Amino acid sequence: MEPRYGNRIGEREDFDGEGHLLKSPADGRDVATVTYADAKKTDEAVETAREASKKWKTSTLKERQDLLLRLVERIQSRSETYAFLESLNTGKTLRQSTLLDIPLGIENVRYFATTKEFALQREIEHPEYPGTRGVVQYAPMGVVASIAPWNVPFLMAIWKLAPALLAGNAVVLKPSHYTPLTALELGRDTAAVGFPPGVVNVVTGYGPVVGDALVKNKHVNMVSFTGSTKTGQELMAGSSGLKKFTLELGGKSPNVVFADADLEQAAMGALFGIYLNSGQLCESGSRLLLQASIRESFLAKLRELMGRMRPGNPMDMETDISAITTEKQKRKIETMVEAGVAAGAKVYFRKEVSVLSPPGGLFYPPTVLTEVHHDQEVWREEIFGPVLSVMEFETESEAIELANRTEYGLAAGVWTSDLTRAERVASQIDAGTVWVNEYHMLSAAAPRGGFKNSGIGRELGLEGILECTQTRHIFVNPEHTDLDDAAYGVVLP
Ligand code: NAD
Repeated sequence: MEPRYGNRIGEREDFDGEGHLLKSPADGRDVATVTYADAKKTDEAVETAREASKKWKTSTLKERQDLLLRLVERIQSRSETYAFLESLNTGKTLRQSTLLDIPLGIENVRYFATTKEFALQREIEHPEYPGTRGVVQYAPMGVVASIAPWNVPFLMAIWKLAPALLAGNAVVLKPSHYTPLTALELGRDTAAVGFPPGVVNVVTGYGPVVGDALVKNKHVNMVSFTGSTKTGQELMAGSSGLKKFTLELGGKSPNVVFADADLEQAAMGALFGIYLNSGQLCESGSRLLLQASIRESFLAKLRELMGRMRPGNPMDMETDISAITTEKQKRKIETMVEAGVAAGAKVYFRKEVSVLSPPGGLFYPPTVLTEVHHDQEVWREEIFGPVLSVMEFETESEAIELANRTEYGLAAGVWTSDLTRAERVASQIDAGTVWVNEYHMLSAAAPRGGFKNSGIGRELGLEGILECTQTRHIFVNPEHTDLDDAAYGVVLP
């Protein structure tokens, strides 16, 4: 029988509620039965977190980092289980989970467990008031509700939990109801390594039920949301009470290739940029901008490399192509491509996947579209699938203009052997992350987030930790000064 998961509320794994059988998008097999929370259960989790936060906020940085380090060791010892569950639940290839998502997540927790960049307070001087001193404290927000999407559930759970815990918050994490398994495993593991009960809670279920209850709960002090731009905007508008929001939203990221780039490397980077996770990554490089002089040779290179990609069962370590995680997403990709083609886009190449893929899985062939136009949805809107749209440019300034001609601003890639140009171009692209001769490489030490409709606030890095705090300024006057006489004299003659 498939495993069962409940909601983690305090020290309990709570099985009270409706059980839902999850099927694998990789091959259609039964994966696990998961108890979905309702609004009442969600409020219970928030109340549990609120109680736990009272003591947790007084913990030292060392206590928090020691526990995070124990979590690193614990996840590491179970990394194969995490990789297997992540792939089974999302349909991403086992190779990706084993070699990328899980090890990266472990290293990301290690960053928060060991960073010296964050301190609970800093000393300042007040230039206006000589002789006084100030202390700026970085106090926790209290209860942080973290709402996550379905595409990288393990990494997402880590990015939500680790900085918030390091900053001294109690967390209620809501993974997507499609892919909650590794987040629920993390909930179990935080308990196993000794995080105090209630500091980490994981409740899963439908967004308009569980997510909505979190956003409306007045005891939630901060909402850390990752998901679509539409949901993020609605959620912020519908929130009750004053809450801090960070929003990590969608993208339509450009990957810009100049003629002087190492074209072999750039072609691999362009394909990695769009086909990792079958394009279901917020920062996927879905708009390829090619300098006109290399268009034909570069496209031919892409075709050759794509020819080598191996379809198959994602649970097989030899397979290169991930499944699409949900039926709904697969339909969205199909509809957008059909509309693009009807409006004049050409399918330059499509990698056949249907023959070797498991019949019970959800797959979409990696596709390259040319002859696309700005007004087509496939060029403008996030497709969140393995579809690369290609456009040409002549000059550097045209490349920058095209890269920025979008409502999104999450990420970008720039490929050139001229590093001076690379930095000049990168500095003019309106995006939260710009890779030079690289794509997708995220570091927990670097802030991540979006310009424009791709979000508000930052996750990861020192900036991401600080987002999970509120400052308290303590003004200390060590002794009576002339200043007091002057200032008090304004009201006390
Ligand atoms: P989504 O917006 O549908 O859902 C995200 C989360 O919000 C889920 O947990 C969902 O249950 C919840 N939710 C849905 N409706 C809600 C409501 N009314 N109230 C409260 N919560 C609600 O997004 P998705 O389809 O799960 O994920 C794909 C999207 O996520 C893409 O747009 C992608 O770009 C984005 N994403 C962004 C980043 C980033 O860091 N910027 C990373 C990964 C994914």
